[in-house]
Amino acid sequence: MKKKTGKCGKTGCKAYPLKGGNYCFAHDPDRQQIRRAEQSRGGKASTAPKTLDSEKFPLQSIPQVKDMLERVTNAVLNGEIDINRARVAGYLASLIMGCLKDYDLEKRMEELEKKLEEIGSRKGR
Ligand SMILES: [Zn+2]
Repeated sequence: MKKKTGKCGKTGCKAYPLKGGNYCFAHDPDRQQIRRAEQSRGGKASTAPKTLDSEKFPLQSIPQVKDMLERVTNAVLNGEIDINRARVAGYLASLIMGCLKDYDLEKRMEELEKKLEEIGSRKGR
C-alpha cells in the first residue's frame, strides 16, 4: 500500500498523519493498541506509585518535616512522583507539623511554669 500524504486515513479526519504513517496521532492503529493496553492496566500507567529512591524521611522535628516537604515539592514539580502521593504527603506533613508545634508549645509552657514556680518560691510565697 502506498503511503497517503496530507490527511489522516480515517474518513472525516482532517488531521495530519504521523511521520511515516497513514494516520494521525489519534487514529494510528499502533498507538490505539498501546492506549488500550494502558487502559486495561486500570489506567494507572501514568500514576504508578513511585518513591523518592525509597528514601525514609525522619519527621521528628519541624525542620525535618520542612525538608521532606521541600523534597516532595521538587519531586512533584519535576514529575518524579505521583501527584496523589504528594498530596497525601502534604496533608500528613501538615498534621505532623501541627503535632510538633503543639508539643513544642507545651514544652515551652512547662518551662515557663517551672520558672514562675522558682520565682514564686524565691519570694517566699
Ligand atoms: Zn485522524
